[in-house]
Amino acid sequence: MNPDLPVFRYHPDPIASGSVRESAETCACCHRATGWIYTATFYTAQEVSGSFCPWCIADGSAAERFDGEFMDSYGLAGVGEEILHEVTRRTPGFHAWQDPHWLVHCGDAAAFVGEVGYSELAAHPEALDQLRQELRLGGLHDAAQVDQFLTHLGESATAMLFRCTACGAHLAYADAS
Ligand SMILES: [Zn+2]
Ligand SMILES: [Zn+2]
Repeated sequence: MNPDLPVFRYHPDPIASGSVRESAETCACCHRATGWIYTATFYTAQEVSGSFCPWCIADGSAAERFDGEFMDSYGLAGVGEEILHEVTRRTPGFHAWQDPHWLVHCGDAAAFVGEVGYSELAAHPEALDQLRQELRLGGLHDAAQVDQFLTHLGESATAMLFRCTACGAHLAYADAS
């Protein structure tokens, strides 16, 4: 983690996840070249030329100025207004094939870790179990089919890995191309 970047409670290492990269680009909000630029989603009805520095994300100025959000509130139903606001308006989003969304655990938004394949996911059995259940609920009833899908994560589909900010458990959802 780069110690100079602002701290994002719900996205602790946006460089590792690829949502922020080193760049000479100027920020579309503060017009400074901070050396870092945001690369993932931002939803707004306004025209934005360029992207944002991590500081304009962290202090909410980019979301406020362009009346936009970095993340859809889908999935964040169980959390308080303040947490919802922090995730959607003051936290870097991430790259995904389908519309990205956030996961919730212990009544709080979880921290986004990154996009992973099967081998990384297998290091967190609780995330694997939870994903297995989710796939069954989603209509995959054949256990062999579920396992086949999971072991091929990283190829035609990937998993978005999160970590609970309260209990530390990992959780994930599947993202298909
Ligand atoms: Zn800025
Ligand atoms: Zn938890």
